[in-house]
Amino acid sequence: MKKWPVLVFILLLALLPIVPGVPEFWINQLNAIGIASLVVIGLVVLTGVGGLTSFGQATFVGIGAYATAWLTATMGGSPWLGLVLGIVLTLLLAFVLAQVTLRLSGHYLSLATIAVCLIFYYLYGNMPFLGRHDGIPGIPPISLFGYRLLQAQSIYYLIWLMVLLAAWTAINLLDSRSGRAIRAIKNGEKMAASFGIYTFHYKVIAFVYAAVLAGLAGWLYAHEQRAVSPSTFGINYGIEYLFMMVVGSVSSVWGGIFGAAVILTLKDQIQDIAPRLFDTSTNFELIVFGVLVVLVLHHAREGLWPIVTRFFSGAADKRKATAAPAAQWWSHADLLEKNGKPGHGGASNGGPGHASPGHDGAHKDPKSNGAADNSAPLLKVEAARKEFGGLVAVNDISFCVDAGQIVGLIGPNGAGKSTTFNLITGVMPLTNGSIAFRGKPLKSASAQQIARLGIARTFQHTQLLPQMSVLENVALGAHLRCSAGAIRSILRLDRHDEAALLREAATQLERVGLGDCLFELAGNLSLGKQRIVEVARALALDPTLLLLDEPAAGLRYMEKRELAAVLSALRDEGMSILLVEHDMDFVMKLTNHLVVMDFGTKIAEGTPSQIQQNDKVLQAYLGGIDDAAIADEINDDTADNIGVRA
Ligand code: ADP
Ligand code: MG
Repeated sequence: MKKWPVLVFILLLALLPIVPGVPEFWINQLNAIGIASLVVIGLVVLTGVGGLTSFGQATFVGIGAYATAWLTATMGGSPWLGLVLGIVLTLLLAFVLAQVTLRLSGHYLSLATIAVCLIFYYLYGNMPFLGRHDGIPGIPPISLFGYRLLQAQSIYYLIWLMVLLAAWTAINLLDSRSGRAIRAIKNGEKMAASFGIYTFHYKVIAFVYAAVLAGLAGWLYAHEQRAVSPSTFGINYGIEYLFMMVVGSVSSVWGGIFGAAVILTLKDQIQDIAPRLFDTSTNFELIVFGVLVVLVLHHAREGLWPIVTRFFSGAADKRKATAAPAAQWWSHADLLEKNGKPGHGGASNGGPGHASPGHDGAHKDPKSNGAADNSAPLLKVEAARKEFGGLVAVNDISFCVDAGQIVGLIGPNGAGKSTTFNLITGVMPLTNGSIAFRGKPLKSASAQQIARLGIARTFQHTQLLPQMSVLENVALGAHLRCSAGAIRSILRLDRHDEAALLREAATQLERVGLGDCLFELAGNLSLGKQRIVEVARALALDPTLLLLDEPAAGLRYMEKRELAAVLSALRDEGMSILLVEHDMDFVMKLTNHLVVMDFGTKIAEGTPSQIQQNDKVLQAYLGGIDDAAIADEINDDTADNIGVRA
């Protein structure tokens, strides 16, 4: 988002109440929109970006409102103390709820938030000290520097100041290391885990953040309305907040504010018009909202905001990384300047702690030092077994990868190669057997712990976040290289670390020859290039062992040659690589050692030239195909590829 629309927006907001003749009704309406916007900004982060659907935000609004209502109207405390109490209670409740509900997946989480909302609605309505169904009246106004914010015009400024501050924090949060992790929650939890990211931690952060904004909204609401009652914190309001986000935007903070404005304006208009048309005062707006949400979900999955921005910015270039705020503060030219000359693809300009000859990866896990056995092979897989029900996908496989080697793991489709990768990287547990890294058994280590030891991987089915820029996708791989937390990000105190992290990501992208598409949306790249982005992302972890699952699939001849050059340069620097690849020419030229699998079993092992002459291997590749036509075709290709004349 450009700066000037925001400045115009702020200017309009500031001037509106002092323009003569603006009806008070408008100001009240804008106050309601501002308060709802706070809740929706939280929902954009939690639900829109993080994919965790909460119907229960009205609960937290209620906590913030009732806390200050009770403290000020009943106990005679200051509204500012009420704010502190409200935020503390919201934090506590959100944290406890997060521990319980965020472990649930899919619709169970949504159901849990509905249940919580219902519980609190009945609590508010039945607690004597909260005034039961009548609520708490007589809430005093907020005083600021001795000035009482009694009028709609005066609290208006406080409300919108809070909204702008909240928008700023949300944009900061999303444009950071934590923000990238939150974005990975929706569609990339397994991927994130293999880069050492504990997504649960970021779920809690998003949940608590959204709850605190809702609590703040509740505080403002209580002092604006000067009374609270249970009805405004029920499940229908929880749903309405969610509607605001869906209609506004699932990814833009400004879009969230827009959604709040659309829904509340519509609601008001409908409540005005419906009784005149239909001679009834039933909640007609709910029907309209329902239809609107269905239409938006069908025709504008991202909400109405992208349509608005496109309208105002003319023919906005859709290919630009709109979801990549990083690109704004750090221009491409700037970046190349910091990184050295454009087009410098050499492996020597690595960032801090870069893979280098003799690189031992010891800095990655301070807790695991000492015990590493340097005489042991880097990776030792011993009788590894994986069963899926009755299917033995990996059947007691054993092999080693030594330091500075490229080992190829080959075999027909379904041989169990990807499953072997999943076992090594802790994506799934072994049924039997053992895997040791640098002499230490991985046993039941989690994917995150294994990543921290210095094992990075790519995926056969690429797992990039398509709405994020290429640079940010690769920065996910460098997550462990810095430690800036969410609070520092929210306050934008993380810029130094963030710049270093993005620079590292850019370095890795240049290294694999993608230095010219840093700010492209990852989803806009060809599948072949996406695989190379995955290689860069894996390198960004600064691994000792790199697992590549079919990295050359979908690449053109020249691109394959470039990839081969990058991989052999990495080997020269001391990195070890385990490579799954079907292009036999690629494999035979690059690898030091080959392991051949078929139907889960290791059928051969040796140097490329030994494998090319192995009868069992030829049989596995050439035999056992029923359809004669397909068999002929594959036989020709494969025979050529593995260098035999069939
Ligand atoms: P490759 O990568 O060598 O083509 P895979 O490791 O993907 O083979 O698959 C090996 C076998 O295990 C296949 O028969 C596949 O269908 C099966 N398989 C893989 N993952 C799972 C899973 N999560 N559940 C059940 N079966 C699986
Ligand atoms: Mg596979």
